Amino acid sequence: MTSSLWHRDQTPVDGTPFEPDARHDVVIVGAGITGLSTAVMLAEAGVDVAIVDAGHVGQGATGASVGMASLLQGTTLAALRAHHPAGLVTAYVDANRAGQDWLAERAGAAADRRTAFTFGRGLSTDSALDAVRDAAREAGLPLREDAPGDLGGRTPVRALALDDQLALDPVALSRSLAQAALAAGATLHTGVRVTDVHALPSGRVGTDHGTVFGDTVVLATGTPITRRGLYDLKTRALRSWAIAFETEGDAETPGGMWSEVGTDGRSVVAPPSSFGRGVLLVTGARHPVGSAPSEVALAEGLATWARRTLPVGAEIARWSGQDYQSHNLVPFIGGMPRSLGRLRFATGYAGWGLTNAPAAAMRLTDEIRGVSRRDRPRWMRTIGTRMTVPADLGRGIGEAARRVGAVAEAFASAAPAPVRRPAEGAGLVSRQGLRTAAVSTIEGQTRAVVAPAPLTWNDAERSWDSPVDGSRYAPDGTRLEGAASADLGVG
Ligand SMILES: Cc1cc2nc3c(=O)[nH]c(=O)nc-3n(C[C@H](O)[C@H](O)[C@H](O)COP(=O)(O)OP(=O)(O)OC[C@H]3O[C@@H](n4cnc5c(N)ncnc54)[C@H](O)[C@@H]3O)c2cc1C
Repeated sequence: MTSSLWHRDQTPVDGTPFEPDARHDVVIVGAGITGLSTAVMLAEAGVDVAIVDAGHVGQGATGASVGMASLLQGTTLAALRAHHPAGLVTAYVDANRAGQDWLAERAGAAADRRTAFTFGRGLSTDSALDAVRDAAREAGLPLREDAPGDLGGRTPVRALALDDQLALDPVALSRSLAQAALAAGATLHTGVRVTDVHALPSGRVGTDHGTVFGDTVVLATGTPITRRGLYDLKTRALRSWAIAFETEGDAETPGGMWSEVGTDGRSVVAPPSSFGRGVLLVTGARHPVGSAPSEVALAEGLATWARRTLPVGAEIARWSGQDYQSHNLVPFIGGMPRSLGRLRFATGYAGWGLTNAPAAAMRLTDEIRGVSRRDRPRWMRTIGTRMTVPADLGRGIGEAARRVGAVAEAFASAAPAPVRRPAEGAGLVSRQGLRTAAVSTIEGQTRAVVAPAPLTWNDAERSWDSPVDGSRYAPDGTRLEGAASADLGVG
């Protein structure tokens, strides 16, 4: 597994020993930005909260992020406005502003104020930039046109700028949120994996250490780890790469946070000054999970672009992570169907969870505490009552077609069983009726697992990735992340 820059030199936050059969007001599964923000808000309001995470604090997408907590999110606002009324885009911006303000207060000196840029190279990106400018201004953001020259001395052709956004270290932030939750009386169990979740007759969370009960259970697991509500079908799992470089010689680190239009989510940002070294981060190569013929090649493509374009020296770390995009481009937050409000979740931040997640936490907190709708902020009421529009259905149908194509392609390219022993670091798939047998060799050990749906080999992470629901598994079949809650069977 790849590990992000932020996890280096960070000692894990100490949790408390797991107590089987313990009862809490709220059990939160997931110690990323969603789970931790929700835990802090609830615990500080006097609610008895337990947080349970399979790994450690900030280990998921949160720790993989590059730390831009910005209201100018590449081309997001233009994409939203293309399919939704202006009022919804304004509510989205207001929600993210509320999330950002909350983070700014929590992060203190650990975050820097920076200008965020969405930029394009060449006339072909002009109309995309116009759409971003119009949507952002309509939603009340004081965007300005800018043509600065500080992206490695190569002036972008045209840039839109929004001042006063935040650059932060997401793992340091996660640690301080965990500590704030603990200080407010929350319980934290790390290294405890949730295997099943039930809403009725009461909230019950099964783990590999025993069961824990909560009046409410919040699934803050990136995507909900249950089939209930079929949220894995209502979202796309998108994987991205990030690479950290030392800055070259005495070159000055570019001061802004840069997202380029017309690319696969490419952004450039330096860590906050509290990080203490001259480092430049690039992220990009976004693609549906399990769709890349070679993850190594995707990451290398991003690294080559960075070396050619930016003032970078030695590479320090390279990692990937995944986030989820809802078909209507607005995060999904709320209660799961048929759970009487006991099972709640938040997902679908489309690569911009650092500001969306605290906003989601505010909504989850108000709903759990029973704050009446009229006492909630306007953005929460607007987002909470949005409707599906035809374009959302179109995106859903497009995504369903992509998955059907992925299944057909995977079956067509799978070898008939039995397959030969894969070379070191490689994986091969074969068909077993409608099932997939996946065989890999890692450190001389050849292992086979069996899945009900196609898998593709991730040559960088050395994992089995599902192009169907975005779940990922270790070579021995252990679930790593995604909608699946169970491991794969051994072949
Ligand atoms: C490369 C990359 C760069 C990004 N950069 C930015 C950025 O600059 N700005 C921005 O706003 N967003 C960015 N994002 C998106 C952002 O990181 C996510 O939207 C956000 O972190 C999601 O947070 P989360 O808490 O919902 O999920 P996660 O952080 O993934 O947390 C989920 C937690 O649930 C736990 N979990 C899962 N299953 C189980 C289980 N069965 N049992 C127990 N625990 C479980 C996991 O261990 C994990 O800790 C980036 C994403 C990537 C991949």
